[in-house]
Amino acid sequence: MSRGNGLAGPDLDCAGVAPSSARGQHASFCGLAGIVWLHRKIQDAFFLVIGSRTCAHLLQSAAGVMIFAEPRFATAVIEARDLAGLADIDAEIDQAVARVIERRPDIRLLFLVGSCPSEVIRVDLALAAERLSRLFAPRVRVLSYSGSGIDTTFTQGEDACLASLVPSLPAEAPDAESSLLVVGTLAEIVEDQFRRLFTELGVEHVRFFPPRGASDLPAVGARTKFLLAQPFLTETARALQARGAARLAAPFPLGVEGTTAWASAAAQAFAVDPQRLRSVLAARTERAQEALARHRERLAGKRIFFFPDSQLEIPIARFLARELAMEIVEVGTPYLNRHHLARELALLPPQTPVIEGQDLERGLDRCRAARPDLTVCGLGLANPLEAEGLTTKWSIELLFTPIQGFEQAADLAQLFARPLLRKARLAA
Ligand code: SF4
Repeated sequence: MSRGNGLAGPDLDCAGVAPSSARGQHASFCGLAGIVWLHRKIQDAFFLVIGSRTCAHLLQSAAGVMIFAEPRFATAVIEARDLAGLADIDAEIDQAVARVIERRPDIRLLFLVGSCPSEVIRVDLALAAERLSRLFAPRVRVLSYSGSGIDTTFTQGEDACLASLVPSLPAEAPDAESSLLVVGTLAEIVEDQFRRLFTELGVEHVRFFPPRGASDLPAVGARTKFLLAQPFLTETARALQARGAARLAAPFPLGVEGTTAWASAAAQAFAVDPQRLRSVLAARTERAQEALARHRERLAGKRIFFFPDSQLEIPIARFLARELAMEIVEVGTPYLNRHHLARELALLPPQTPVIEGQDLERGLDRCRAARPDLTVCGLGLANPLEAEGLTTKWSIELLFTPIQGFEQAADLAQLFARPLLRKARLAA
């Protein structure tokens, strides 16, 4: 059903929130962007993009801040050539991988990352990965996934990467005890904080995926319960469930409320005494709420509009509305996993417009008409919107900044308060 504004009508009612869908031109980074945070996390992994010069430029500019670090990503540039050149491409990939492995004895895991140029789409990277894995086993495991920008958004690169890694996870021992697996790339500081939190709760066997090193792959099986730390891991969750693991339904650990509910889901699954849960969380929630209070003054009542980009939009909107009293004008999300996001949708203020997909021009029209105080969008939209007098926040910052957990709640609020403060200063 069309509503005359580019949106198909509501198809699900979640506690007063009725997501719509939009189809049309979309603007987003491609899945290669995920390499920037994934390579920081898995410290003995190398990401070899099989792509074009455009892919090489994107990676260099997205990761430009790390130009002085020894890079663990590169692009093997495949130039346009006819089908008869395919055998050469296989040989070129083999040579490129051999060079990387020879120069980098520290590498234990190598991802061949596909991209969208037609020459690359024709190459069977999965087959190449199998061949190379056999060749370099046991020292280096070679896997493949696609970071192509065709019909994907930038956080799907992480989902594809982790899903490709799931079949390599060892099986649980037959006598293994129940374990908790936290799934989704988290900054080390956040991972350490969550590890301490679960230790204090008495949850003993806690692992993180992805791990910091390829030799530390967590075992998985029917006694594994997993908590998603990121909302964009549909394929990874499916692959873990196919290995027998069970997903714990929870909101995402963003803000005090989200983190409390997320940790509580684990506590309930591992039969933690409710009194112990309350006492472990008490000081953390109190400190985080105090830290949030100073941002609430600046953000309360401010109107915010989300263009679809990172897939973090719905949990962030929930946090900003419920803990900082912001007014949500519209929440766009590139994809909506109704199972993983069910608890988030139920927490959004009733009647919040939630739109899955994108019809760029119509979205821009709605944003211009609404004149929100703050617009969250991709880099490509930010400059034109700023030129029109709108204040923007880059959604990719939500992936480059540690934002999960109690200790980061105020930092997350600050990401949204800062552009408003800058604007107020300029206007003064
Ligand atoms: S994968 Fe596609 S969208 Fe991404 S940089 Fe390469 S050519 Fe561009």
